[in-house]
Amino acid sequence: MARTIQEVLDLIIAAVPGAPQAGSVDVLKSGDPAWEVTGIVTTFTASMDVLRQAVELGANLVITHEPTYYDHYDSDWLAGDPVVQAKRAFIEEHKLAIFRFHDYWHMHEPDGIITGMVRVLGWEAYKQEDEWMVVVIPGMTVGKLAASLKEKLALPIARVMGEPEQPCERIGLIVGAMPGDFQIKAFERWHLDAIICGETAEWQTCEYVRDANALGFNKALLIAGHAKSEEEGMHYLVEWLQPKVPELSITYIAVGDPVSLL
Ligand SMILES: [Zn+2]
Repeated sequence: MARTIQEVLDLIIAAVPGAPQAGSVDVLKSGDPAWEVTGIVTTFTASMDVLRQAVELGANLVITHEPTYYDHYDSDWLAGDPVVQAKRAFIEEHKLAIFRFHDYWHMHEPDGIITGMVRVLGWEAYKQEDEWMVVVIPGMTVGKLAASLKEKLALPIARVMGEPEQPCERIGLIVGAMPGDFQIKAFERWHLDAIICGETAEWQTCEYVRDANALGFNKALLIAGHAKSEEEGMHYLVEWLQPKVPELSITYIAVGDPVSLL
């Protein structure tokens, strides 16, 4: 049974409480909603590498968590930029439809990104029902937590603030790129011993944690990077979406951290 891009998007949006919302960034960024879907790719971000793989797979619908043109609203502030022009030309040439699935995946109950991360970390049993960003893991320490993140998220290194033996049973999953003030307030708001973040604001959160520990408070910060802190949520999307479109091939493409370690 052939399905159009719009039909697939309608199925997704209908499954999210409160969606659609006026002004949401979760719209079709390229392509024609009337096109027939030839295959679906899910990913953290529609990078050139992901787009090339989508073409190789013969998939014309790319579902991305992050923007395509380096701006939350994919506005035209970089319209004349040669990188943007080259990327746009590739997308148009290969007739790729790109749908941003950011707000709605976070609005899903439970949050699709957090669900994917908790599942890959094996922490379902530690999830706090009323505090969706918090896990409580008895006996956890900063060292064990760092080792766990490296193993489960395939992080080459763990960027950590806190001593290896420091206890951290109440952990906040502040994934993505939440502002520094949100990260700092989260420690008190949820009585956290540790935060696992995606991106951090070094001048804010890191300095707060440095002072907190120097003053005898017990606070740790583990910086996973934005992509690594969220992309398993887009991996989980395959499992969530497949029963809604059983006849379509859905492929998750990992992007990993954009920065290399030399
Ligand atoms: Zn996110």
